[in-house]
Amino acid sequence: MRHWQIVEEILSYDPKADEALINKAYVYAMRKHGDQKRASGAPYISHPVEVAGILARYRLDTETIVTALLHDTLEDTLATEEELTGLFGEEVTTLVKGVTKLSNASLISSETKQAENFSKLLMAISGDIRVLLVKLADRLHNMQTLEHLRPEKQKRIAQETMDYYAPMAERVGLHEIKDELQDLAFQYLDEEAYRSITTRLAFQQEGEADLVDRLVEQISDLLKQGGLDARVFGRLKRPFSIWRKMRTKKVAFESMSDVIAFRVIVGSVEECYQALGVIHTKLQMVPGRFKDYISTPKANRYQSLHTTLIAPGGRRIELQIRTGEMDELAEYGVAAHWHYKTGGDGQKAPDLEQNRWLQQLLDILQESEHPAESYENVRENMFVGHVLCFTPKGKLVELPTGAIGVDFAYALHTELGDTCVGIKVNGKNLPATALLNNGDSVEVLTSSGQLPQEEWIGNCQTGRARSGIRRCLRQHARANNVANGRKLVEKVFLSADLKLTENGLEQAVEKLMTRSVDDLMEAVGAGTFTDREVLHAVYPGESRKRETRRAPRVETVNPALLIKGVRGDSGLEIADCCCPVPGDRIVGIQMGARGTYAHAIDCPALEGFTSAPERWQDVGWDMPAVQKSGAMHVGRIRLDAVNKRGALSSITAAIARADGNIDNLRITKKETLFFEMILGIDVRDAQHLSDIIAALRAEPDVNNVDRVRGWTPRHRQPANDRRTERAAS
Ligand code: MN
Repeated sequence: MRHWQIVEEILSYDPKADEALINKAYVYAMRKHGDQKRASGAPYISHPVEVAGILARYRLDTETIVTALLHDTLEDTLATEEELTGLFGEEVTTLVKGVTKLSNASLISSETKQAENFSKLLMAISGDIRVLLVKLADRLHNMQTLEHLRPEKQKRIAQETMDYYAPMAERVGLHEIKDELQDLAFQYLDEEAYRSITTRLAFQQEGEADLVDRLVEQISDLLKQGGLDARVFGRLKRPFSIWRKMRTKKVAFESMSDVIAFRVIVGSVEECYQALGVIHTKLQMVPGRFKDYISTPKANRYQSLHTTLIAPGGRRIELQIRTGEMDELAEYGVAAHWHYKTGGDGQKAPDLEQNRWLQQLLDILQESEHPAESYENVRENMFVGHVLCFTPKGKLVELPTGAIGVDFAYALHTELGDTCVGIKVNGKNLPATALLNNGDSVEVLTSSGQLPQEEWIGNCQTGRARSGIRRCLRQHARANNVANGRKLVEKVFLSADLKLTENGLEQAVEKLMTRSVDDLMEAVGAGTFTDREVLHAVYPGESRKRETRRAPRVETVNPALLIKGVRGDSGLEIADCCCPVPGDRIVGIQMGARGTYAHAIDCPALEGFTSAPERWQDVGWDMPAVQKSGAMHVGRIRLDAVNKRGALSSITAAIARADGNIDNLRITKKETLFFEMILGIDVRDAQHLSDIIAALRAEPDVNNVDRVRGWTPRHRQPANDRRTERAAS
């Protein structure tokens, strides 16, 4: 962009703009920056010109544009305040000083300075919101040219943009800038996710290039038939907003319908509701998705009606309905107050009354005595739903609201979580379950002899901490059982005066159908097998009198302990046809001497028992016992994916990332273009399994994922899967 283009653009919305002042600022900045270069190699002046160009799109006044052109002169050149005041006046100089202060407040720095920096930042913008507008445009252009910087710097700047500048842009209602900042930052922070979303978007667009246009036409026609004069726009959602939706709502990136948003602009508030009525009578709405931000505006004063509909062709689309005025605010945010307005001379009064957010910030600043305090208050105000804490070295850790010390420990490192016994917050020793507050400096206190407490799980806010504690306790219990089991086995061999060899144990492993010697020892330690049973497996001639009837099992927890309502004492098994996991609705089927089998309520195998109601048992998971046991359960899913290199490893990696563990895997079909497989995954419960399914659906190579519900020949297990054979017979 050239400087004369900006002048032209400004004159197009403000014919009386001070063209001479803009030209003077351009020439001054160009001379001061001299032969300075950007990291890209471009002359430095290109940067302030681009920043001014971004602000001209928001139709801002001459002073803001001039400030944009001069914004780096005080900081990076020999320009002085006196010189600026002489040439451009008080107002512009104050604005340029504000932007300079803001630029010096690097937000991610050592934690001791952070409060001070944030306070500086607020002081700088609280004088005049235009300082923040220039700073946001400056940050936007820096993000657009971030590729020229070193990778570490890219990451740091992208993180700062995501954590601070994008939320600030949102708070002042600059949605376009917020979206662009987030997408640019996302690209550097999670390259892989960004690529996967954009690839998928491109792929879907290819197939349905004119879909947006067709739907815009259909919606326009509907409204016209309803007697409404409306403007309708459609656009694709941004990669980051798609990603966030997939993560927070745990939905899959299924089709274009999830990624288009439509906007309907009408003349009045009344017409907004009329348009909603017309659309709802013609198209089916998706329940639970309607939001009325007209009667209850958002904190940044955004107003609109939001609804989700089933459009012709069965697609879900998101629709926003608002007036032109509301749309202007949605587009320009607080910048709307600084628009050039024809006539009148009071146009420059900062409209603080109208911006509740800024007012709140100012109030907090005035009420707080210490910079650190205002920093904390404001941060809470700005980052609802998050707690931001620091390590002693100043690393920022973001956690959900309500997070406790253990969450912090596991967020840093698994080992820290496993050995955490307490935390030190701002120099004070607190229990590991202490609540964290915004701005806390947290040190994790550890002790290698300690284990995390099971009761902590209920207080943890992050899945990482919950699963970390469970895994740690499970590992510990297993290690104990293995050691005890080995002692018992050694003793029984010794007292029978028989030789215990590793070879002999391998034989027992095979006979008792466990997976390894350790598994066998664990089973003995946990009481699943007796020491005598092991002895007998190695030396079949020995006495069997102490043997029990119990079926050999590899699980460490007997499902009978986790399921309530079983009648009789012949034992309980989880049916292998449907593999229910805790949280699934289940029903018990009495199988005579073989005990009761728990099936998922929607297992087709249940049809075989409809004529035998006496065998049905009303059973259910004992969820407190399930949680207490921390045991893992095999959930089974069927998945089909694109048959190409790397597909399988991306699937297994996605499962691992979702904290799942593959218990078994079989390719059931393999063709040139795709393959199908059945996976058994160790999960905590049904929710965990559906989290994993959601994560898999987000994988670009995965076409479809479903729970396996029931028994069809297609899913027949290999003959050595003993439990399956029984359940099927
Ligand atoms: Mn700059």
